[in-house]
Amino acid sequence: MINVDEAYRIILENISTLPIQEVNIKGAVGLCLAEDAVSDIDMPPFDKSSMDGYAVIAEDTLSASGQPVELGVIEGVAAGQMPQKKVERGQATKIMTGAALPQGADAVIKVEDTEPMQGPKVRLLKGMKKGENVCPRGEDFQAGQVVLKRATTLRPQEIGILAMIGMGKVKVYSSPKVGIISTGDELVEVGRKPTGGQIRDSNSHCLAAQVSLTRAEVECFGTARDDRKSLIHMIKKGLRKDLLLLTGGVSMGEYDLVVGVLKELGVNLFFEKVAMKPGKPIVFGKYYKTAVFALPGNPVATYVSCELFVRPAIRKMMGFTQLSRTIVKAQLETPLRSRGERREFRPTWLRLEDGRLSASPVEWHGSADLLGTTRANSLLIVPEGVESYSAGQEVEVMLTGEL
Ligand code: AMP
Ligand code: MG
Repeated sequence: MINVDEAYRIILENISTLPIQEVNIKGAVGLCLAEDAVSDIDMPPFDKSSMDGYAVIAEDTLSASGQPVELGVIEGVAAGQMPQKKVERGQATKIMTGAALPQGADAVIKVEDTEPMQGPKVRLLKGMKKGENVCPRGEDFQAGQVVLKRATTLRPQEIGILAMIGMGKVKVYSSPKVGIISTGDELVEVGRKPTGGQIRDSNSHCLAAQVSLTRAEVECFGTARDDRKSLIHMIKKGLRKDLLLLTGGVSMGEYDLVVGVLKELGVNLFFEKVAMKPGKPIVFGKYYKTAVFALPGNPVATYVSCELFVRPAIRKMMGFTQLSRTIVKAQLETPLRSRGERREFRPTWLRLEDGRLSASPVEWHGSADLLGTTRANSLLIVPEGVESYSAGQEVEVMLTGEL
């Protein structure tokens, strides 16, 4: 049986980044940029006022006597207009935020620092320095500059930058098409009430949600029965995807047929077990370009192994360089015991308190208790060989959501 790190390494070694495609920026959030984004303009494109006020010559604003200065107002410019007149000594132009600075002027005095006067004149209540309240042309970036590098994650602010530089369409790495199959004779659909020995299929929904958050495309094929024919029929369909996820049917039971069927169909399996808890029967293989995971049926085992292995695999396909969830160090709030055999992942509530991260494992009844994970925002990692932690000890915690 291999450990979590080896499993992670084998998976990523056998996953390649998908081809590049062009998409509209309207749908590009969460994807990975596959080209350098180069600006076609200076930003700002002109010397720009950052205030509503008066464009002035800074030297004019400092009177020798200390008396307020009065300037003649020659015109007004709003955002989107171009000033028509040059500001000469003793003059000012009324200007709005975002408007272009008129020639001659080198500062903008805020309207709050002025007093209106009779006629086209303004009284300044403050001296100004050159450049005050002016954003010079090209201050943020310039035409020809690479503003976003290839492999950048497109967050909302990056999407805004792409819009600023005129890139309505952008090259990104493709998102994988992911197929999900649940297996088990006991499973019924969400819309049905389970009777005698049945339970509802929650795994395919939980997995589909985890996969959707990575921005991959999900198709749920439904539930395969615990018989060869049913499995073969569904798995064959699933093998047309970039990534196929199966849950259940991989343990030691008499009806755990998934591994046998995968082999029969020619899927090349790299491993069938990982030393972790929850988990253990975690199968990874490839069928031509299709990556295949068969995950244990217990809901928390499915959830955790998807976070640990499937999510990074998807992110690699999508071109990202940061693949795994963030791991932080935190102070343990309550003592904890472990068997010390396999690496354990405990649903935990991580919080920031007085500038320190503290970790409280939540009440949890083991790998079937999915509700326990709803009280958690992270997974506390108990390494192999550790049998107990006492309160106050430093532990490693993997974030699975927001703090
Ligand atoms: P298995 O891995 O098939 O032996 O299943 C282990 C446990 O997980 C059993 O209690 C199953 O009933 C349960 N299980 C399997 N598949 C699912 C599923 N899709 N949704 C919820 N529970 C499941
Ligand atoms: Mg089963």
